[in-house]
Amino acid sequence: MKISLIKGDITEIEVDAIVNAANSSLMGGGGVDGAIHRKGGPQILDDCMEIRQTCGECPPGQAVITRAGDLPAQKVIHTVGPIWQGGQLNEAETLANCYQNAIRLALEHGLYRIAFPNISTGVYRFPKKKAAVIAIEAVNEFEGHPDLEEVIFVCFDEENYGLYKELLL
Ligand code: ADP
Repeated sequence: MKISLIKGDITEIEVDAIVNAANSSLMGGGGVDGAIHRKGGPQILDDCMEIRQTCGECPPGQAVITRAGDLPAQKVIHTVGPIWQGGQLNEAETLANCYQNAIRLALEHGLYRIAFPNISTGVYRFPKKKAAVIAIEAVNEFEGHPDLEEVIFVCFDEENYGLYKELLL
């Protein structure tokens, strides 16, 4: 498995699956979620609504998969990050679950190149350095997996990009 780092917009990445930092409602939101729905078009929300109807809300740490509409990626995996509340409410474990459940779901669907945004580090206020360490550790647990080809961390802001650059050296 290769780990790559890109500074940019995840909606422009041509991979098997991009991951969305969604909220539990799966009904869209701001930040990366808003960008994915805007660029991908209504197909993504249609699929999210169907999931809502059959499975209900998506709890933090879990992941679901939809089509990708007009995006260059083949599929979108929506995961719900933890809202940072000081660190005593298993936020770290929940964040690691996001990365690992998204990868497991991708592999189940035959998707081997996956791009992640910096989940929970926007409006959910997870400290960026802590989040980066957790994300890299969670992904590294798949080292040696026979199918997983590439995980790309897509950093939108300069601060996250700098942190990942240092940690991935
Ligand atoms: P959360 O609610 O999980 O914190 P946000 O969307 O508010 O989700 O922020 C998560 C991260 O996504 C932030 O680091 C933000 O800089 C980043 N981000 C925002 N837009 C994009 C985009 N188009 N592509 C990649 N990352 C993005």
